[in-house]
Amino acid sequence: MTSQIIILAEHEEGTLREISFELLGLAHRIAATQNWDEKRISAALLGQGTHKLADELTKRGASEVLYVDNEVFANYTSDGYRSALVELLIAENPQLVLIGATPNGWDVAPLIAAQLDVPLATGCMDVSFENGRAIFTRKAFNGKFVHRVAVVNAQPLIATIDKGSSSPFDSSTSGNVRHVELAIKPNKLRSRFVEVKTASSGALDLTQANIIVSGGRGIGAPEKLGVIRELADALGAQVGASRAVTDAGWLPHEHQIGSSGVTVSPMLYIACGISGAIQHIVGMKNSNYIVAINKDPDAPIFDVADIGVVGDLFDYVPALSKAIKEAKD
Ligand code: FAD
Repeated sequence: MTSQIIILAEHEEGTLREISFELLGLAHRIAATQNWDEKRISAALLGQGTHKLADELTKRGASEVLYVDNEVFANYTSDGYRSALVELLIAENPQLVLIGATPNGWDVAPLIAAQLDVPLATGCMDVSFENGRAIFTRKAFNGKFVHRVAVVNAQPLIATIDKGSSSPFDSSTSGNVRHVELAIKPNKLRSRFVEVKTASSGALDLTQANIIVSGGRGIGAPEKLGVIRELADALGAQVGASRAVTDAGWLPHEHQIGSSGVTVSPMLYIACGISGAIQHIVGMKNSNYIVAINKDPDAPIFDVADIGVVGDLFDYVPALSKAIKEAKD
């Protein structure tokens, strides 16, 4: 059976990157809404001796893993991935290809689309089908607008998907691994792997956080951020922020959530003293459960909140931290 949706699995140092499971989650959601056969959701895995990862994908959302095991793929190279994926996509002729909007995805997706002479929807938050037309939802102008781009008469449809836009596939599957032999000649590739340079440790990755407690301008001053940190500690959460906070230098930019920060979808998002400007909302509205605390009953953040608390954050946040700590003791 050929694949209808193919996701590109990404891996690093023997571990699958979370984006692989997010793409599988999105693929299953699309298949369910379109009544497509979930057995035609495949993952393309390029690697060398990465059988364990292929098996893991079969259990975590891929009905079939198209596994290319070749020394060429011991490490990522744009030319190696491009030539393998083009060959694979021509053979499989899928309807939809989902690739992470990651450094590798940014690199390889345009190369594939150009070679297959099809359009590419980049940096998407969602993919849906309306009256048979594919609609790609993506942020534009730093999140001031949300584009809904319809792509017609293209096969495959190719999109790169932002990290954190979709929940990872959370059920279990029992797919199979298909070994694919490709005619790749290493001496014909124009790029080669040299080395990996690792960033300094301790870097914050809010896209992977389960719980985020975010602070906005309503905090009032950097020395008052302690109330946010205290609640985050009590919940085992990460600390996020609006741009007002990072622009003021109260927290580094890596904490910023929104159109010019990161897009997140944690299980729980607690917004404290954040008004809910569209540029912030686009970065957190896909959170599973949103709690907003704000003095202004008309603050737009309440439009996306599951629970809204109208009041002073300095009354509620410390009380919440205390109650959580007491419940844990
Ligand atoms: P404010 O809008 O000033 O809101 C503060 C809120 O705190 C108010 O609603 C107030 O009622 C409440 N408050 C005050 N005191 C208390 C208290 N004691 N208790 C409870 N509530 C209180 N913003 C982002 O967040 N992320 C982005 O990525 C981003 N990108 C942008 C890109 C562009 C191109 C542009 C133009 C803007 C961008 N912005 C972004 C900025 C955005 O438009 C808003 O200015 C910003 O989100 C406002 O931050 P805020 O909600 O913390 O502050």
